[in-house]
Amino acid sequence: MPLYSHSRLSVYETCPRQYRFRYVDRIKLPRVRTAEMFRGTQVHAALEALYRRMQRGRTPSLDEVLDGYRRAWQEQWTPEILISDPSMTPDDFLRQGEQDLVTYDARYRPFDADRTVEVESRITLSLDPARRISLQGYVDRLSIARNGVWRIHDYKTGRRLPAQQVLDEDRQLALYQIGVQRRYPLLTDRVELVWHYLAFDQEMRSSRAPEALRELERRTLALIDVIQADTTFETRVGHHCRTCTYQPMCPAWSHQFRQAALPEPERVLEPGAVLVDRLVELRERKRELARQMEQTQADLFEYSRREGVETVFGATHKATISEEETVAFPAPADPKRRRAEEVIREAGRWDEVVMLDVRAAVRFYASGVWPEYFRRALAPFLNRIKRFRVALRKR
Ligand code: SF4
Repeated sequence: MPLYSHSRLSVYETCPRQYRFRYVDRIKLPRVRTAEMFRGTQVHAALEALYRRMQRGRTPSLDEVLDGYRRAWQEQWTPEILISDPSMTPDDFLRQGEQDLVTYDARYRPFDADRTVEVESRITLSLDPARRISLQGYVDRLSIARNGVWRIHDYKTGRRLPAQQVLDEDRQLALYQIGVQRRYPLLTDRVELVWHYLAFDQEMRSSRAPEALRELERRTLALIDVIQADTTFETRVGHHCRTCTYQPMCPAWSHQFRQAALPEPERVLEPGAVLVDRLVELRERKRELARQMEQTQADLFEYSRREGVETVFGATHKATISEEETVAFPAPADPKRRRAEEVIREAGRWDEVVMLDVRAAVRFYASGVWPEYFRRALAPFLNRIKRFRVALRKR
């Protein structure tokens, strides 16, 4: 049985197809490394070295921490590391990381607010022993504060500060909390989750009640069930594709790579490209025709009023023009709508006009908003229809 992790689950949530390539098909490709990732790795390594040194009885100076950081940076930086902002250089990222370490040092030195228990500690957690489903992860630092509270620390080097609510719902550290509490059951009745946002000199905290942790275990297992039952692993195109090395084999992108491999004149004649270009042209013509039809109908209406005729005769067809008044119910947000509905209810006519909103029902069913037991009960009565859909977008 596979060993899951928060990041593995996140890959599935971001794009099931990427999950399949990486964890089911086990296609090994070098990952894209961005300068932001590299900076994060180096800052984490510098803080790890700092606390490990402290565990051995000596606190390194800030200069020593920075020297180690710069040395590792120079040794490990490679030209393949992606810098997507053209105004930035590798040195800019190096300095950002230095500044993060200086900020952290100024805030916590002499680092005696808590005692470090473990650094870069591997946490494993059995979620379903019968099915041998387990999770693993690495805690940046585990410590005990002076008041006896255990703290699970996570260093963040990103340039965005999350809302507190995001951290209160964070899965990663909460799963680590379950693992830590199982490892030290008699010591860890009070646990805090602590995120250090180094670029902002901010420490953000959250805690989890035992029921919240049970609910998290239940939801994590439910997600693993979905992954294990998945047979299609749909593609989910988004910003994350930018750093996905599976693009050349991904059905959402592979055609572009095949095209790029063709010589220039053959590219526009490739059958797929011809079909797409034709579809774009037809769509433009359809739009133009719709606009022309609307204008001609308006002109015809104007003509019939001016000439005082109801029917206008052409060479092969005649057009009868009429004006009629229909009623419409106010929009849902209009206060008159609620009153109109009350009148119908009061007259006992509600059941005659209300029908199931099938679109909303399908949406709730498909999105998983409705609980699993309810969706299972409903499933046998739903029709399954296969349709193909073509969505045209600019490249
Ligand atoms: S390229 Fe995008 S859609 Fe395709 S597998 Fe990667 S992340 Fe998913």
